[in-house]
Amino acid sequence: MDTKYSTPLPGSLVDQHGRRISYLRLSLTDRCNLRCFYCNTCADYTFIPHQRILTYEECLQLIGLASRLGLSKVRLTGGEPLVRRDCTRFVERVLEQYPEVDLRMTTNGTLLAPEARRFRAAGLQRVNVSLDTLDRAKFQRITGRDYYSRVRRGIDACLEEGIQVKVNVVALKGINDQELPDFLRMALDNPVDVRFIEFMPVGHCSAWSTSVFWPAEDILRKAGEITVLEPDHAPGEHSGPARMYRLPEGRGRLGLISPMSDHFCARCNRFRITADGRLRTCLFSDREYSLRPLLRSPKHGPEAVLKVLQAAGRKKPFGSQLLEQFAQADDSFCRRDMNAIGG
Ligand code: SAM
Repeated sequence: MDTKYSTPLPGSLVDQHGRRISYLRLSLTDRCNLRCFYCNTCADYTFIPHQRILTYEECLQLIGLASRLGLSKVRLTGGEPLVRRDCTRFVERVLEQYPEVDLRMTTNGTLLAPEARRFRAAGLQRVNVSLDTLDRAKFQRITGRDYYSRVRRGIDACLEEGIQVKVNVVALKGINDQELPDFLRMALDNPVDVRFIEFMPVGHCSAWSTSVFWPAEDILRKAGEITVLEPDHAPGEHSGPARMYRLPEGRGRLGLISPMSDHFCARCNRFRITADGRLRTCLFSDREYSLRPLLRSPKHGPEAVLKVLQAAGRKKPFGSQLLEQFAQADDSFCRRDMNAIGG
């Protein structure tokens, strides 16, 4: 293990609003094998050229530095992390080098099944799988690909290996709202938390509109008409910003994540790093801090990166204030597409 980067610094990263930053979302690529209509929205989007993508060595270095500042929860995301070559080996290396890090992955699940055994052997315990519909034809309409069965196989393979799975569903009115009973059934029959996430107007060609926006409160009300829901405030539960509900006899739970209607900025503990090594301290802010030149410069190196993480962390904005400003300007909330940010 490389102890150079794992010794904690005195004090953790606390911002000007008193929020402790403890969670890093690291994007491994902006490329994806799906074309979800709401995610990579711009027809003229150009993928980040190869030489600008952080190498795995640089990602490892960043994880080590972040964990020194107390960011001990790390989520690998993308684009689709599993389309990047040797991603599974990278997961193994992270867990070998930083066993103290709570490593997770967010994936579309299409390439997951063949990797599940190695993930389990490496010690990866939690995976979030994005799945917006339980209907194969609709899946193809939403994502542009006929990969529904692959995703289901990916989920099953993880469950067989004992990896905890959360299913994330972007709530889309008129598209997947009729499927609420099916998703509840999924959480009832499987040890899987099914979490609906409000659609966010991210990216400057965002497909967001009020007509497809399905607010969390409406989902909760409709779910409550279908089944009994019991709020679950289990202490120590890693639900993040999700409000969780138990179902009678359910093996999994229903979760609601409402960044739009009931923002959780006061509790936000996140840093995001894009695949080209840009730190974003708030999903809704396009202010980015470029870490790649520092990582690559023999003159600067790790100490300079630490300083930027610390300085940027202190200035972490309150996203809800940005949302209000954007709403007044009638603009999309941030210019970067979600596939480049990582969700
Ligand atoms: N490819 C991986 C996946 O599918 O999970 C990781 C990257 S993807 C950008 C991360 C998450 O962001 C997915 O769950 C996706 O559905 C979600 N997402 C993308 N655009 C969104 C939007 N505008 N509003 C809400 N969620 C969004």
